[in-house]
Amino acid sequence: MFWLIEYVNMDNIEEMKAKIAKLEQIADEYNTGTKLLIRRDLELSRANEKLQKFDEIKSNFISIVAHQLRTPLSGIKWTLSMLLNGDMGPLNNDQKTFLMKSYESNTRMITLVNDMLVADGIQSGKVHYGFKHIDIIDLMDNVLFEVSPQASKRNISINYKNKFENLPQAYADPEAMRAVLQNLLENAIKYTIDGGKVEIDVKKEDDHLLISINDNGIGIPKDQAKNVFVKFFRARNAIRQETDGSGLGLYITKSIIEKNGGTIYFESEEGKGSTFYFTVPLQESH
Ligand code: ADP
Repeated sequence: MFWLIEYVNMDNIEEMKAKIAKLEQIADEYNTGTKLLIRRDLELSRANEKLQKFDEIKSNFISIVAHQLRTPLSGIKWTLSMLLNGDMGPLNNDQKTFLMKSYESNTRMITLVNDMLVADGIQSGKVHYGFKHIDIIDLMDNVLFEVSPQASKRNISINYKNKFENLPQAYADPEAMRAVLQNLLENAIKYTIDGGKVEIDVKKEDDHLLISINDNGIGIPKDQAKNVFVKFFRARNAIRQETDGSGLGLYITKSIIEKNGGTIYFESEEGKGSTFYFTVPLQESH
């Protein structure tokens, strides 16, 4: 009996030793794994730092190029408008037409450069807003005054759906809101066929205003709707129509609206038209 116990104990000791060895091996592997993870973590942090530096360099590059382009483009605009105004002598119709085309291309380039600067500012968090109470209808009237020549040139009517009485003021950055209204109205005009209709509505809903801009234009293809707010996206029917654009407008618009405490969404049917909706808070909400 005694021998048997001793035999069993010896056996147990061997078993324990084997278990300890196994545990030591697991601990070693665990340590190696931890060291590897720490090293990977360090490598990832360094890669991330490098990416941030590259992003900063890219951002500075865009900013320098865009600023450098803006000055000569503004100079060209000034010269062209002087020529068009006849400040340097009378022009015949052909000369006027060609100069007008150059003037329009130049304006498009200025818009593109500005949009690139704004989009880059948004991405790198450089845009700052100054919020205050504003009358959205006043702002809309102002923007309408600016964009209506584009509409009347193509016989597109723009109307308010309602008379807006007792609408409360909104709380937002006025310049940024102006850019939003301008972009949505210009899109509604640009993507509507000649003789079409644009209708604007503003309603008070709970703690915000809901603004909608409806057009009976080319609409947005269903399978491309999810990309509409993506930077540089342009739908295939818009490209087919040879309308010009950079695909930056709605990316910028969405960012502004959200930073001003609102949301943006749309309904659209290809060939029938689109309605873009967005909200602006009535009081400070951010
Ligand atoms: P851009 O107008 O410069 O191309 P935006 O970012 O403003 O860029 O719009 C992105 C795309 O969304 C447009 O190219 C067009 O395909 C589509 N889109 C925007 N607004 C409308 C609209 N009112 N009707 C039809 N398509 C639109």
